[in-house]
Amino acid sequence: MNKANKTVTIAYGDGIGPEILNSTIEILKESGVNLNYEEVQLGEKVYKKGIRSGIEPEAWDVIRRNKVLLKAPITTPQGEGVKSLNVTMRKTLGLYANVRPCISYYPFVWTKHPDMDVVIVRENEEDTYGGIEHRQTFEVYQCLKLITLPGTERIVRYAFEYARKNNRKKVTCFTKDNIMKLTDGLFHDVFKEVAKEYSDIESENLIVDIGTARLADTPEMFDVIVTPNLYGDIISDVAAQISGSVGLAGSANIGSECAMFEAIHGSAPDIAGKNIANPSGLIRAAVMMLVHLGQSEIASRIHNAWLRTLEDGVHTADIYNPEVSKKQVNTDQFTAAVIDRLGEKPTQLPVAGYPKGSKKLSINLTLSRGNDKPSKKSVRELHGVDVFVYWEPEDPDKLAEMLKGATQSDLKLKMITNRGTKVWPDGIKETFCTDHWRCRFIPEKGKINQFDIINLLEDLTKGKIDIIKTENLYEFDNKRAFSLGQGE
Ligand code: NAD
Repeated sequence: MNKANKTVTIAYGDGIGPEILNSTIEILKESGVNLNYEEVQLGEKVYKKGIRSGIEPEAWDVIRRNKVLLKAPITTPQGEGVKSLNVTMRKTLGLYANVRPCISYYPFVWTKHPDMDVVIVRENEEDTYGGIEHRQTFEVYQCLKLITLPGTERIVRYAFEYARKNNRKKVTCFTKDNIMKLTDGLFHDVFKEVAKEYSDIESENLIVDIGTARLADTPEMFDVIVTPNLYGDIISDVAAQISGSVGLAGSANIGSECAMFEAIHGSAPDIAGKNIANPSGLIRAAVMMLVHLGQSEIASRIHNAWLRTLEDGVHTADIYNPEVSKKQVNTDQFTAAVIDRLGEKPTQLPVAGYPKGSKKLSINLTLSRGNDKPSKKSVRELHGVDVFVYWEPEDPDKLAEMLKGATQSDLKLKMITNRGTKVWPDGIKETFCTDHWRCRFIPEKGKINQFDIINLLEDLTKGKIDIIKTENLYEFDNKRAFSLGQGE
């Protein structure tokens, strides 16, 4: 740490936000850490000014300058046109890794899983969270799921580096690559490739459905889990909930330049202003922030005081249980209890001891962006085109006749699918069809170029075919890079 105090950006948020951030800052100040705090406005007040992103334009400069943001929860207004501030922050600042430790504090906080200690590392920018959605026909809506090679490599490497630096023994990858063979298949392949470089750490892959079931039933079998954005969003709430309470977990959103730390819960408007909220989630987030800043000693000091407070049975209403709690306290009293215990350690729960030095992980991409960039070496060839058309749900044989009659192109109609299932040739009448048809055109022989596709589209348009969109079909190194139709 430099001699000059580090400045972190803070945002008080909405609902219980100001109460729990005040509590957290009070504890930080009493812990002896040298930090300055610079406030920015986020959330409801900003939305109400008509700024749809929920963040003042000048706040970006402050956040980028200080690089570290401690953020209280905000209320997301319902309704059209409003963008989730959290998603905007993560994507704009390149906060690619969402790290959420989910630990049980049994017997002080009741849970069915006393030995749970799982860290979820969720990819934070890609997948369906690109928000690229379209209504394409009267019946069909689409959301694009984008999984990229560099994005995947970065999060997978982060998970292994995190495991190594934190003495974790195993990294489990959750994907659904039995169904999404290209997107989730990439995630799984990169995981297998990167895992080879970490022979000291056990690795395994589970299909996300059975993985989630096992996580909910036997979380002790997991250590670090790495997974794409949407699955990570869901399983990290499952994990936090079964560890005892969503009110206890903090999360870190890590980028290569900036980082944001927050509680996992929302702004809890139902209890706002009552001085009864549990500030623990934000306190845990602040501990993660201190570790990120290299202030490991003070991080341990606050973490241990907080554990000791839980152990002493000083509990806010959300975790109060007459069988183990000694005293029900409000937010201010809980804060004072943690401050009183600074310097103490828990006697039954494991003592926190963050090793000295910064834990900021440095991630070097070698599969996707290194000197040996495989995408440069690959040969990409155009192999055909899927033309998506709007057509009333009718007999697919009629559509095939219309398409074939409309074009003289060398590109020949090979298949029609509806919702991914082959309906022509040789479809059966039981297959349910919508007004959204994928028509696959492949040349009888040889390769094609973009002009062949343009000519095909011109023919089809002249033939009154209502084209919605096209997807080029590629081969990379003579390997098919598109999915087949179900039943093809
Ligand atoms: P919530 O997490 O705010 O509340 C769910 C329940 O948990 C409520 O009963 C609440 O009283 C309780 N609770 C939450 N935190 C608590 C705490 N620290 N202490 C004691 N009890 C606590 O979820 P919600 O009600 O679905 O969402 C409220 C608002 O928060 C929404 O506008 C939502 O969009 C927003 N939200 C923001 C974030 C964020 O800023 N990171 C995250 C999630 C939700």
